[in-house]
Order: sequence, then C-alpha cells, then structure tokens
Amino acid sequence: MPALINPSRPCALPADARALLARWGLSSSTLLTTDRQSPKLRHGQARARAVILYTLPARSLAEAINPDNPADGPRSFVPSLFSLAEAHGLTQKARAYNACPWATPGCGGAGGACLAWAGHAGMGSPEKNPIVAARGRRTLARLDDPEAFGRAVFWSALRHLLRARRDGLPLAVRLRGTDDHPWHRHVVPVSEAEAEAIAARYGVDVTPGEATMAARLAAVPELRPYEYSAAPVNGPLGLIAQRDAGPVDVTSSFKPDRLTGCADAVAALRAGFRLSVPVRVKRGAPLPSALTLTAGGESITVPTVDGDAGGDHRWTDPHGVAVLLRLKNARGCGPEADAFSLAAHGMPQHLPDGSALLTWPD
Ligand code: SF4
Repeated sequence: MPALINPSRPCALPADARALLARWGLSSSTLLTTDRQSPKLRHGQARARAVILYTLPARSLAEAINPDNPADGPRSFVPSLFSLAEAHGLTQKARAYNACPWATPGCGGAGGACLAWAGHAGMGSPEKNPIVAARGRRTLARLDDPEAFGRAVFWSALRHLLRARRDGLPLAVRLRGTDDHPWHRHVVPVSEAEAEAIAARYGVDVTPGEATMAARLAAVPELRPYEYSAAPVNGPLGLIAQRDAGPVDVTSSFKPDRLTGCADAVAALRAGFRLSVPVRVKRGAPLPSALTLTAGGESITVPTVDGDAGGDHRWTDPHGVAVLLRLKNARGCGPEADAFSLAAHGMPQHLPDGSALLTWPD
C-alpha cells in the first residue's frame, strides 16, 4: 500500500463508466450489493466485508422483455425493461442472451429453482419490484457496453474496499452472484492517469493497460475474489481457467439434473475444487456429514461443510469438500425445480449419469 493515501481525494468513475451507469439508471454506490443489505452476506461480517454483483440469470432477461409473457408472477414481463431495451437497440441481443451457459432446467428454466428468485427478488410483480428491475438494467448495461460496465464494477469494488479497510477486514468480491458471466476473460482497461488516481485515492497499485477482471481483483491484496460456477473443469471457460486467471477461489456448482452432472462433479472434486450442493433439509435438522458420488463406475466420498453457517465466504472453506446449502424458497418454481437439489435421506439418489448418497454419522 502506498504511504500517502488521501481518502478524501476524489476518484471519479471514468467518463465511459459514468455515462453507462447514468444511461441505465444505475449508480456506482448501488451497483454491487453489500453485506449491509444482504442477510446472507451479513452472517459473514466477522470475517470480511463483502460485495456481490446481482444480474438476471440464464434467459431471464429475454423473458422479462417478452410482451407475450404474462404480466403477473415474479418472473414475468417487465414493461420498463422492454422499453429500455427497445430505446437502446438491444432487444435482439437481449432475446438471444443466456447469462448461464451451463444452467439446467432445474435451476435456470422458466420454473427453475435459481436462488435469484428467492427472498425479496421473488416478491410482487416484477414491474413493482425494484430488485428485478435493477438486475435487469445491470444485465442490459453489460450487454450495451461490456468494457465500460467492467470498469464501473472494478471502481465500485475499490470504493467498498475503503469501508473494509476502515473496519480492518478484507473485502470479499463475488461477481457471478446470479449468473455465470466469464469475468476471467472480461478485459478491464486502466489508463496511466486512472492508475495514478486509484493509487492516490484508494492506496491500490494498478497496472495500466489491459487485464482481465479476475487478474485485476486478484492483484489487490485486500480483496478476496471468489465465485461459484457450473462450468466443466476444463476448457477456456472452465473451472481451472477461471481459477488460474486470478487466482480466484472457485466453487463448482453441482447440477443433479444435468446429463453429465455426477461425472462433472467427480471431476471437479478430483481436480481439487469444492462442490456446492443444494439439499432439502429442514431448518434445524442435522446436516449429512458425507456425500458419495458415483459415475462411470467411479466413486468418491467427501466430507461436508455447512454452507449456510458464517455467510457466503466459500474462500474460507477447505477444497475437496461438499458445501451443503439448504434449499431456499424461490418463487415461481415449476415441477422441474425438484431436480435442482438432493433429498435429505440416507438412500442412493439415482441421477441421469450416476447416483448421490448423503450419509450421517452412526
Ligand atoms: S442456479 Fe446458477 S447456473 Fe442456474 S440459473 Fe441460477 S445463477 Fe444460473
């Protein structure tokens, strides 16, 4: 950290990022959701301050701008988003957009169990729900100008870093809050003048030029970038590529209804990732202590940790474990949502390419 930091010195958002946020009715202070606003993040306040980027998952933006979609229910047509998309010439792009390339019907389908629709985000009609509208505007803003949007997100994270530093804690940063956007390949350019302003205002050394968001976040010692992703292990968009681009702490998201769900989960555990597993366990009931996955004649048994205890700080959990997350009530679910989670019983659960077994201590 440079010796001379002046927190009162202005460090305005770059002009392109500021213009983009203004165009979409967004602001730097509310672009990221903080541990002050989110009960999930509040639980982890003893370990770190935290910010998450929430957008619309999977094909929800296309549903939100589709006038044929009924205008009632939590996942329906949002006239204001439709008008914005039309006004900015983004309707075609938004209709084709899928924010979660590896979503399954159980999570990202029209009636899927994605947690994006749990809590306040699933309440009331979307037109009257400011959370859904704001997530939609963030998603549209990213489609409109990815570079400026990435810069706005980076500057916003730095702004929240000041609060974490004042409290003597690191700042946890999760950008795939409700989607699977490839931030490990998303370039965030910084000019020489911007790097100087960032050093003076935030006490952060930033290398001028082009670097990915993952590399930018990982280069700031007080930040803890972490993500969940449903990507496969290998390939340019895969878990290893995501992790190594930072490094970023990455948790693999188990998709029980994927045709290769068990094999992908076994591969992720074997590659050293932890696995997040949604389970149907009643509040207060004991959690299983181990998960056994079988696929292609291969079996692996790993211990579990309680993913709801201590907030969302996956980066503090060991690797090679199953992180159990109790299923939250997402609104507007259809029958396909049942396949999103594992039941809490001690019998093998037969899945498309294998089986899962949750067990408790004797
Ligand atoms: S659960 Fe994850 S992959 Fe599925 S729709 Fe939600 S954010 Fe996307």
